[in-house]
Amino acid sequence: TNITAQSGVPATPLVPDSGSGHPLVELTHVEKYFGDLHVLKDINLTVNKGEVLVVIGPSGSGKSTMCRTINRLETIDSGDIRIDGKALPQEGRELASLRAEVGMVFQSFNLFANKTILDNVTLAPIKVRHMNKTEAEHLAMDLLARVGVDSQASKMPSQLSGGQQQRVAIARALAMKPKVMLFDEPTSALDPEMVNEVLDVMVELAHEGMTMICVTHEMGFARKAADRIVFMADGRILEQNTPDEFFEHPQTERAKDFLSKIL
Ligand code: ADP
Ligand code: MG
Repeated sequence: TNITAQSGVPATPLVPDSGSGHPLVELTHVEKYFGDLHVLKDINLTVNKGEVLVVIGPSGSGKSTMCRTINRLETIDSGDIRIDGKALPQEGRELASLRAEVGMVFQSFNLFANKTILDNVTLAPIKVRHMNKTEAEHLAMDLLARVGVDSQASKMPSQLSGGQQQRVAIARALAMKPKVMLFDEPTSALDPEMVNEVLDVMVELAHEGMTMICVTHEMGFARKAADRIVFMADGRILEQNTPDEFFEHPQTERAKDFLSKIL
């Protein structure tokens, strides 16, 4: 199931150096409030290079907020977040360049509706990475081929299916050559028959050594691709374990209860 082989486009590695081991994302004692609502409570999480994390937990437990703090779409009230050893800057050019190292794919496809598929993918590399147009388009076509939508490059987002749009969103994030990819329920808004075409791309990325944090209810994907399951409830990380251990021997009542409802 090699995307590249299917498309016949020569491969450039998605993950420049797939050596693994060192911490790429580190959250230490992270606290976050929305007004009086305490949404992240003493979050401590380390994601090593090449690791695939699947984050699960009941609705409202803070999964999305945690993802959004990692590329600073949300501020935190205390604690520390580091990407590849560097603290998240407050704002400005430094923040933009650090944010570029964290690719994010959301539940809603949020492609730019008034731009072609190709332009959606080339926009940020040209603006933020200062790539020239030809180079950016070459990279974009390569990535669109990898996710199987290169034949749609000149279309507008509304002409594509949800599954195709979400694969474009993945290609768009990859075009920035991120060090880590965040996925926040990327298949939740899709018609059921389109879920697998997106999960297949994610599995492929995982196999290529991409560092990934995936919020998802797709337990088949979790078992297949995750190195570690992170279980959140009420703003806390309650368990972190291998899929086998987590699914066979959940430690907390909250996790047992959650699993009994979804499995
Ligand atoms: P999850 O992704 O696990 O469902 P969220 O991170 O979206 O959880 O939300 C955690 C809590 O924070 C929920 O109670 C939610 O209502 C609240 N929340 C999320 N975003 C905001 C916001 N921008 N303003 C106020 N409350 C928010
Ligand atoms: Mg969420």
